[in-house]
Amino acid sequence: MADPIRPLIAGNWKMHGTGADLPELKRIANGVDGTKSDSPYDAVICTPATLIDRAVRTVVGSPLAIGGQDCHHAEKGAHTGDVSPAMLVEAGASYVIVGHSERRADHGESDADVLGKANGAHAAGMTAIVCVGETREEREAGRAEDVVDGQLAWSVPEDARPDDTVIAYEPVWAIGTGLTPSMHDIETMHDHMRMQLKQRFGSSGARFRLLYGGSVKPANAADIFAISSVDGALIGGASLKSDDFLAICAAM
Ligand code: PGA
Repeated sequence: MADPIRPLIAGNWKMHGTGADLPELKRIANGVDGTKSDSPYDAVICTPATLIDRAVRTVVGSPLAIGGQDCHHAEKGAHTGDVSPAMLVEAGASYVIVGHSERRADHGESDADVLGKANGAHAAGMTAIVCVGETREEREAGRAEDVVDGQLAWSVPEDARPDDTVIAYEPVWAIGTGLTPSMHDIETMHDHMRMQLKQRFGSSGARFRLLYGGSVKPANAADIFAISSVDGALIGGASLKSDDFLAICAAM
């Protein structure tokens, strides 16, 4: 039998996080025992780009990894305000979130844009956390699986591997709202995504880590992690407080 998938607990600090938050990050780093070989999960906090370098120095020696929240697809060029994958790597990031619904909505990012970013992340040696998920209207119209299928098909690179790509299912209506799908709906979507990945990638499709994201908190983490097709979580609000983030880790 294949080894079990090693879960990933990822925090997304969004546009929060300055030097004043480094002590909180340090508490997370001290509390996470994720990446030691005998412990059950990996952990990463994706900070604003401006904080990555200091965050990496803050957590040095701990198993906590640091990631970015977005990147340009190109290595360099005339792209004012953008940050390249190589720049994130130089700052010390080993993961980067691409295609978060806030980027797709606020910056009009298409699946093709997200694909380019994931490819850029891979070329620079980072693990891409590719986000997918339907809006409330799409779910109510019965289109949730179709929407996610399209995002998976067009934003996940053809040569993606389980060790360089993580998929995060984040229903848009569950992000920052306190609402979550039922456990049954999460399981159904994750099983569906697993099937799609196996169809496309063969046996390696069974090995991609599938995270759930959207209002994960200490109170619901254990139920979500009990779903066998959930391989971790992408956590926004509850990743800003070490007590909450560590309580979620402890539920893994
Ligand atoms: P939330 O955000 O946990 O605050 O709902 C999740 C995300 O946007 O990744």
